[in-house]
Amino acid sequence: MEQVDYLLIGGGITNLAFAERIDSQDLLICEALDDVGGYCQTVKQDGFVWDYSGHFFHFRHKEIEDMLVDFIGRDNVRTVTKDSRIRYADRWIDFPFQKNIHQLPYDEFLDCLVGLYEIDDATDPDNFKQMLYQKFGKGISDRFLVPYNEKLYATDLSSLDVDAMGRFFPYADVKEIVLNFRRANNASYNATFTYPRGGAIEYVRAIQRFTPDDCIALNEPVLEIDPVKKIARTNKREIKFGVAVSTIPFPKLLEISGLDHDRSTYSWNKVLVFNLGFDKKGPEHVHWVYFPERDVSFYRIGFYDNIFGADRMSMYVELGYPADKDITENDIALAREKVLDDLKRQGIVTDHKLVSHHSIVLDPAYVHITQGSIADVTQKKDLLATHGIYSIGRYGSWTYCSIEDNIVEARALADQLNSS
Ligand SMILES: Cc1cc2nc3c(=O)[nH]c(=O)nc-3n(C[C@H](O)[C@H](O)[C@H](O)COP(=O)(O)OP(=O)(O)OC[C@H]3O[C@@H](n4cnc5c(N)ncnc54)[C@H](O)[C@@H]3O)c2cc1C
Repeated sequence: MEQVDYLLIGGGITNLAFAERIDSQDLLICEALDDVGGYCQTVKQDGFVWDYSGHFFHFRHKEIEDMLVDFIGRDNVRTVTKDSRIRYADRWIDFPFQKNIHQLPYDEFLDCLVGLYEIDDATDPDNFKQMLYQKFGKGISDRFLVPYNEKLYATDLSSLDVDAMGRFFPYADVKEIVLNFRRANNASYNATFTYPRGGAIEYVRAIQRFTPDDCIALNEPVLEIDPVKKIARTNKREIKFGVAVSTIPFPKLLEISGLDHDRSTYSWNKVLVFNLGFDKKGPEHVHWVYFPERDVSFYRIGFYDNIFGADRMSMYVELGYPADKDITENDIALAREKVLDDLKRQGIVTDHKLVSHHSIVLDPAYVHITQGSIADVTQKKDLLATHGIYSIGRYGSWTYCSIEDNIVEARALADQLNSS
């Protein structure tokens, strides 16, 4: 039987970052698909460059950014000051909604403002939905925060943990909101972002270069793990490992490792992404737009062409679905028609001609972070670690995070193992 010190399950950005950092050449990445990169894939079609969904990067660690960007070449990576907006009541409102209620129709602005002063925060919120009402009041929550997040997460927001979006949630208190009426300060965690000319896959290649090709086994899913014997079975062989690092969705890891778990603890959404290429330019400057209104099928769209100044509208469009919804080819075709109609109603597509399109379903896309999932993940990760199996990454840790967070987490684990 083959043996490796480190068996890395999943060839996304997280395990590529682990492979770069670990002090061992005795490792094997098993990746189910025919290329590494996971969700950071790029599609190049008819002159358009699209990711699996808009993947824009906000680095907080300069050494990580330098490692990636120096390889790609500074001239090939654009740093952009974000222009993100909300489409509401036939207007463009600056993001975040809660700090720009003065841009709403007058009566709606008053409702939101009064709502802020009617907040009842005497007790701590129990869940995400309660948190929204307690922090932002009824006007803002009913108009944007609740419908937008329900479209995205495709679930009842009261099932989610208070902190379900972590640092990605744009908090603002009443004082900040009121001051923003005159002195706009809409800065958030991603006030600027970077994007490579060749798409997100460029970042993957920049980190993959540290791992020899013969340490990567493509088209080789791990199907079963025996945690006690430390043996993994793939579609091709059995491999004995010293340490396994898994980035596959956590409930899947529990299943293939034979660990009992209550399936209802884990839920998530699916995101259907359309990449659409048109024959001419659409709205200028804006990078992405949020759509809270329930009669619009998508919750967010973004414009690649406004990042590199291209002269044809090149968009991604995201639609949220519950995990148990089967999305057939027919559903996708119908959804694309509805998306195009909605884009016309919103004035984004006028007499444009659609010249290229592509779609992908991300499953899971946004995991539902609940009190139950947090407790179960913590307990079972600890248990697996006693067998030398570590679960990391966005889906391995069953969390909400960015690719930079994935790299930081992978490096921290490698450093811990290097020094043990
Ligand atoms: C809609 C959306 C938008 C996003 N936008 C951004 C953004 O703008 N900026 C940002 O920084 N991040 C963004 N992210 C997050 C980013 O995509 C993830 O953080 C990152 O891709 C996670 O990398 P990973 O390696 O942990 O997991 P993945 O990319 O999921 O990689 C896991 C790999 O495991 C493989 N695999 C699965 N099962 C098996 C098996 N049994 N055996 C072997 N291999 C297996 C998969 O094929 C995959 O290649 C976004 C995510 C989504 C869903």
